[in-house]
This record gives sequence, C-alpha cells and structure tokens, in this order.
Amino acid sequence: MSTPRYFPPELIQKLDGLPELALDCNYSWSHRADEIWHELDSSLYQQTHNPWLVLQAASSSRLEGLANDEIFCRKLKDIVSEQRQSLAEKRWFQTELQQSTQMQQVAYFSMEFGLSEALPIYSGGLGLLAGDHLKASNDLGLPLVGVGLLYQNGYFRQAFDHDGNQIALYPACDTGDLPICPVRNDKGEWLRLQLHTPTKLWVRVWQAQIGRIKLFLLDTNDPVNHPVDRCITTELYGGGLEHRLSQEILLGIGGWRVLQAMGITPDVCHLNEGHAAFLVLERARDLMAENDLDFKTALAITRAGNLFTTHTPVEAGFDQFSPHLIRKQLGLYAQKLGITIETLLDLGRNPHSTEPDLPFNMAYLAINGSASINGVSRLHGEVSRRIFSPLFPSWSKYETPVSHVTNGVHVPAWDSMEADELWTHLCGKNRWSCDHGNLPEQFNRVTDETLWNLRAKNRTRLVKFVRDEYARELNVHTNIPESEQQDLIQRLFDPNVMTIGFARRFATYKRPNLLLTDPDRLVALLTNPERPVQLVVSGKAHPADMPGQALIKAWHHFMRRPEIRERTIFLSDYDMITAEYLVQGVDLWINTPLRPWEACGTSGMKILVNGGLNLSELDGWWAEAYRPEVGWSLNGLESQHTDAEQAETLYRLLENDCVPTFYNRDGAGIPRRWLGMMRESMAKLTPYFSANRMVRDYTSRYYLPLAASYRKRVKDNAELGHKLVRWLKHIDEFWPKIHVDNVVAEHQDNQYLFRMHVYLGELTAEDVRVELFAEAPQEASFSVQPMDIEQALAGAVNGFIYTTRIPATRPITDYTPRIRPFNPDCFLPLEASYIFWVNMLNCMFSISCDNCEQ
Ligand SMILES: *Cc1c(COP(=O)(O)O)cnc(C)c1O
Repeated sequence: MSTPRYFPPELIQKLDGLPELALDCNYSWSHRADEIWHELDSSLYQQTHNPWLVLQAASSSRLEGLANDEIFCRKLKDIVSEQRQSLAEKRWFQTELQQSTQMQQVAYFSMEFGLSEALPIYSGGLGLLAGDHLKASNDLGLPLVGVGLLYQNGYFRQAFDHDGNQIALYPACDTGDLPICPVRNDKGEWLRLQLHTPTKLWVRVWQAQIGRIKLFLLDTNDPVNHPVDRCITTELYGGGLEHRLSQEILLGIGGWRVLQAMGITPDVCHLNEGHAAFLVLERARDLMAENDLDFKTALAITRAGNLFTTHTPVEAGFDQFSPHLIRKQLGLYAQKLGITIETLLDLGRNPHSTEPDLPFNMAYLAINGSASINGVSRLHGEVSRRIFSPLFPSWSKYETPVSHVTNGVHVPAWDSMEADELWTHLCGKNRWSCDHGNLPEQFNRVTDETLWNLRAKNRTRLVKFVRDEYARELNVHTNIPESEQQDLIQRLFDPNVMTIGFARRFATYKRPNLLLTDPDRLVALLTNPERPVQLVVSGKAHPADMPGQALIKAWHHFMRRPEIRERTIFLSDYDMITAEYLVQGVDLWINTPLRPWEACGTSGMKILVNGGLNLSELDGWWAEAYRPEVGWSLNGLESQHTDAEQAETLYRLLENDCVPTFYNRDGAGIPRRWLGMMRESMAKLTPYFSANRMVRDYTSRYYLPLAASYRKRVKDNAELGHKLVRWLKHIDEFWPKIHVDNVVAEHQDNQYLFRMHVYLGELTAEDVRVELFAEAPQEASFSVQPMDIEQALAGAVNGFIYTTRIPATRPITDYTPRIRPFNPDCFLPLEASYIFWVNMLNCMFSISCDNCEQ
C-alpha cells in the first residue's frame, strides 16, 4: 500500500486506512469520508477536491494529534471498514451475471479520463464519459480496468486578459500531488516497460483507484528517455500530429503491454474513440507470439474481443496521419508483426478508395480491428452509419454495421447533497446500480413543495459559488479595497432569480453565442423587473481554436454592459468543480449545437437528477429524451434551420414560455407547471440517461457476447479462429464466381412471387443467405425476407432455385433479391463486406429474365 510522502511511518498503524481513503477516487461521489478531509483542512479540500493533497499537507504533529484522538480514530475506523466492506459486496455483475458468463475482464482504453478535479487528465465530454463509465462499472461490480495516459500538466488552464482574450496556462504539476501511486512489479520494483519504437521508449506506469476499479496511467517522463520522448505525455491535446501519433502509440501499444505485464488478459477491449486503436495490433501481436500464428490469423481471432465506440459526427473529426509519419514511427513495429508497413497502412484506409497516398485513419484501424462498432446516441448511430458507409459500399445505408448505446452520466457524481438525500429517501440507497424499472413511480411520491425547496437550496449554493469565484477574480485582476469588493460581491446574483446556465467547450459547432445573437433582446430578458433572469456562462476554447476564443471574447464584451453586470458572469477555467455547482444549481440548461454535430452531449443529463430543465437543440441525447412534458426543444427534426431562425426560436421560447412558466406562482408561491415538468424530467429521464443504464447496456449487448466469441475463437489452439480465416479466404476467392439467372418476379393474386436460379460454385448454401430486400419509403428503415431453396438445380454444383412470396402491398419494383455471405461465428458485414445484388433493371417484371448480372 502506498503512503503519502510525508506520512510518518509510526502512524501508519494507528491511522490505518487513511491513505487508502485518500487514494480512492470514490470520494468524488461517495461522501463517506468528507468529514475527515474537512477536519484535516476544510478550505484546501473545498478548493482542490483532493484528499491526497490534504493528507500530505498535514503536519506530523497534526497527524500525531489525530492518532491520539479517540473520537477521530473511531470515526476513521468505521469509515474504513464500511469502505472495505462495500468493496467486497456482491453487486449486479456478481449476483446476476457471473455464474453464466466466462467473461473475466474488460479493458477500457481512453485518451482522457475525467474522474475528479484532483486528477486533471481530461478536456471535456469524452473524458467525463470515460470517468463516469469507470465509476458506474464500480457500482455494478463489473470486472473492468481502465487504461489511459498520465499528462503531467493535464489540459490547459484558462485565464483572461483585460480585453477578454483567453490566456492558456500550464501550471507545473507535481505528480506526487495526484491521487495515484506508481505500479510496482512482484519484486517491488517500479514497473517500467520498453516499446519497440525507433527510440526504444521507456514507459512508467501509475495506478488510480476508483472503488474496485483500477485505472492504469502511462507516462514517458522517465529521465532515461530522450527529451522529445519525455514530453509525449506532458499535455493533453497539445503539440502537432507527430506528437499526437506518439501519444496514441503509447496508449494503444503501451497500454496493452502494461496489462500483460500486470498479468491481465482482457476478454474484451473497449476503444473509447479511435485514439486507442493501435491496441488491436499489439493484442494480435501478443497472440501471435503465444500461439505461433501469423498476424492475419491473430487479428481475426482477437478482433472478436474488441469494441469500438465512435464519438465523432463528422469525417474530419477522426485522427488521420500521413503515411510518412506512420512509416517513420511504426516501420520497425510492422516488422515485429511480420507484415510490411504497407499492409499496416492499409489497415487504416478504405480498401475501396482508389486515391493514392491516403492518410492513415484511426477510426478505420479501429473498425478493421473490432467486432462491433457503436455510436453514442440514436441520431449519432444514424450519422455514423452514413459516415462509415464507404467501407461497405454495396450495402444499404441502413446496414452499415454501426449500432448505438446512448451515453449516460454517473448520477451519484453529479447530484447535490440535497438531491442525494431526497432520492435516497424515495428510491433507496442502491437506486443507481440496479434495474431502474420502478424508480419513476417511487420518485413520484415527492411533493411539489419538497421539490421546490430542493431547487432553492441548489440554486443558493450556486449563487454562493458564483460570488466566491467572482471574489477570486477580483483579487487577481483589481486592487480595490475589501469593503468595496464585499459590496460588489453581495450585489451579484440573487438566490430567488431564475438561473440559466450555458457551459461547455467553446467550439464553433456548439454555437455558444446563439444566445448572444441579439444582445439587446438578451439584456431585456435578463433585466425584466417582474421576471428577472441571471445567466452563468463558462467554457474553454482549445488554444489553437481562434474562432472559439473569439466567441468567448464576445461574451466578455457583452457582460461589461453596466445594466447586466449583476445578472451575468463568465466563470473562467471551466472544470469539474465548476460543472458540479452549475449542474446542481441552474434552473434551465441551454444547449445549442449545430445538428448533428453533438454526438450525444452529457452536461444536460447531469442536471436531471437535480431538478434543472433542459432547453436544447434536438441533437444527440435530447433527440431521444425530448417530449413537451420534460423540457423545450429549439425545433423539430424536420429540416435545417438557419442560425438566425434558431436564435429567434430560442428567444421566443425563453420570453414566452420558459421564464413565464418559472415565475407563474400560485398562492403557495409555487410554479405548478414548472414543477410538473421538473417532476417528469427527474423521474422519467434521470434513470435512463445514467451511466448505470449505459454500462449495463454495454455489458449485455457487447461485453458478454464479444467475450464469448473471442473465447470461442481462441480456444483449443484457436481451432475456430483458423477455421474462420480459411472460410474468409474461401469467400474472398469464390464470391466473384456466384451468378444468377432465370429471375422471375410475378404478381399472382395478392402476392408477389420471386424465383431465381443461383449458382454458388465452390460455396455451399450454408455459406450464404439469399434474401429479398426493400427500402421502406420515406423511412429510415428497410425490410428483409429470406428466400428459400425450392430445389437443387439439376446438373449444377451448388446450384439452387431460390424462391419466396410476399404480400403485394407495395410496387413490385421496390424489391431486390440479394445474396450475402453467412457464418454464425462471423461478424458480418464487418469481416466480409461482400453482397451480390440481383440486377432487376434488365429484368421485365412478371416475365422471366435469363441474363441478370451483378
Ligand atoms: C459534462 C462535462 C462536459 C461535457 O459536456 P457536453 O455538454 O457534452 O459538452 C465537459 N466538461 C465538463 C467539465 C463536464 O463536466
């Protein structure tokens, strides 16, 4: 067990468990040990949310004093034993799944993790999602480990100059302050690994603990490394493409190596975005070495256990590297795989493209190395099917093998203390780690008065936070006397005023300035004497994103208007602590992305449990969640709207609906309609848009089946794996020889009859499925009906007459027969994207057709 650097050894016994508590990131949602950290140093804890730092900052004599304080020791003992007990409890996975699955371990790879402000290795939604995934996996008892990078300086910190220009700061960060400890091997030595990169990079490994989940973090700041290499993990999303490539090699290849060194062999690897895709190579290499396989076979086997989650709604969002860079950094590595660098490059390219010197696309590598692909909301699933359809060029656009699991948030990490109490009272302690079936009914027993009180408490805490932050800014930027400061601070914000929040990355697609389209109209909204509104804005723009920074600057200029000074604030340095206060405190959360660019979005989900309402573009998760009873949408899904039209809708909704509803009080002072919406949103949406539901979906739909397929392929010296590789080769070879003739499409009574002669040659009827396909008119769907063998064709090898009948409810020309490869053990069309469409154009309907071509 690790101890803080300054922890007096003689106290380890007496204060048993204290370092353990400080190193477990579960303090970010389980407030079990909060009183201990507050007792040690309340203000340091408040500001950093870092118990490890609090513990290290304590003096020996203070710790000595506590060790001799009986009350403290008893409290500590209780908390520690409660914590240890909860780590050993049986959870959802143990009680419901463990018996019936062979799955031992899932590894979750991500470029960033947002777990706590104490470990700032995230930049935004992707990282927060990864953090929440680990937390929910802990709650559910899922055997999962995380793999990521330790950025010494994290992501940039934000400040502003006098004119509202963003300044990017990189305060040096002491790894020893972070709640992590170095990983040691079984001899007790620091675990260090060397990669097969041109510079023979040394990698160090750290471990963060999230309840029962371990997160391994890799870093290259080993003094033996070349300075260029030492800087690979200095910052998140800093540097150019070459630097990014180094990071991704480290994450994928290094990440897998670390698991191996720790004796962990996952059944399933979950790639959270394409950044980690190199792991599919290293995982295959490992199996090659172990089972004496060639690379292609090893990849075909390991692929069954890889899942790729894509987060990008536009092609340009994928990381792409020039072939030159790949050759330079992975040339040696390709030799280790026993393949040429050109073969490796092809794994990151669209095989159907004829363009020369195509860049290497990480998403394509992930797809080539995975058995399943998913987007992060229903709409994003659709968008992703379109984006990846060029990889499956002959398939219908609905059948691109990409599904979706809508994101969710780890509710306990985002609920306020009062919300937690209320939900616990109504729905029990384990409500976020079980089936959420009857939560809505249980929750609905709450009274309007209780809910409205909850809002007041949450809002008041946000108002205090806003004032504290403002005071901090005043101290940095002005030198006005304290009394004047107090005056300014007291006048800022009002706990009884409707509070609107807008906080997220300032990227242009999020249109963070839509609300600012007509500044005068916004001023009128904020300063309405009967129905005033206050507005909190926060967010960072990437240091290289100048348009994003210009949007922030525009907000700063707007907020200088004297008449709204007390009603608006731009909180600098948006981080998890700011987010926590915001999502707990706001009445209305605004989200205005350009559809369909927000793949999912999660910040709006964080307000659900706390009783805030959403007003959002119908993009990402909101396209699934929205109903008029739970919030507001900027417009329907029907068509594209201009920014100006959307801004008009936004103002109109705020002026005529949201704000009046908030202020329309009855005799008891309660806005009944608002409460009705709150109740509906809290009860119906919170359980579904939770990481609990999300991780359970991932488990049942992907982890368990993929683990089973992988185990099936690899067992008995990879017998099935070898067989599948042979089968795929056979399909490659003989697919082009399939042909069809005598196609008949007849209208008989109320039915259509389709019949055709199919010559499969070296393929058998088991190797294919013959089907009748039709696109549904005007709908994003299709129908497929199997065609059956009527009889074998005399004198033909694997020649058959296939036929089917279908009710004549649509034009006969809507239907097209087709043949596709089939193998129950294969992921199709992912592993073989062939499809043979019977050309009906030359075929007169109701007349037999002799010569239909592909
Ligand atoms: C939740 C969260 C995000 C993601 O919010 P989106 O609405 O998905 O953009 C970004 N940053 C922080 C600090 C968050 O807590």
